[in-house]
Amino acid sequence: VKKAEIPIDGVLDTCIAILQADAKQLGIEFRVFGRGKVLNIDPDRIKQAVLNICLNAVEAIRDEKKTLRKEKRYHIDMTVTEQEKNFCLTIKDNGPGIDAELLSRIFDPYFTTKNEGTGLGLSNVRKILEAHGGSIEAESQKGFGTVFNLYLPKRG
Ligand code: ADP
Ligand code: MG
Repeated sequence: VKKAEIPIDGVLDTCIAILQADAKQLGIEFRVFGRGKVLNIDPDRIKQAVLNICLNAVEAIRDEKKTLRKEKRYHIDMTVTEQEKNFCLTIKDNGPGIDAELLSRIFDPYFTTKNEGTGLGLSNVRKILEAHGGSIEAESQKGFGTVFNLYLPKRG
């Protein structure tokens, strides 16, 4: 990876712009919190990672909407926080969530619950974080949504 000191906001806004048309159609609002931070990243690779995660959220919400009768307001929130040694980018959706017994497998190559899924998105995302010397973790509660925490080291 070719890392440089990059304002993360532009990366996030680019991802939002790419998904905006689909999101609008599904009633999804993107929100960004903790703007103004400069991270040591390869912006093209991080864009790819953020886009993969957000696209999964959009697809999960699209799928949930097929079976949901009531109106539901959806959010995909991206929050950047600073820790002692890392920046943390949290990407949170209030979509359908992931079954507890499947959660441990979502980063496995070829794991998918979609008819036409490759199952390579999140395994690639994990590789991108690891190439930055960082890491990723997922939390989810079925029926409430999913949270991804992306840890990116300040140096190294
Ligand atoms: P693919 O998108 O091809 O299925 P991914 O590696 O991107 O492969 O994702 C693996 C699986 O993780 C998905 O099939 C889906 O079951 C689950 N998943 C990922 N993100 C979410 C999310 N935000 N909400 C619900 N399920 C998710
Ligand atoms: Mg995917």
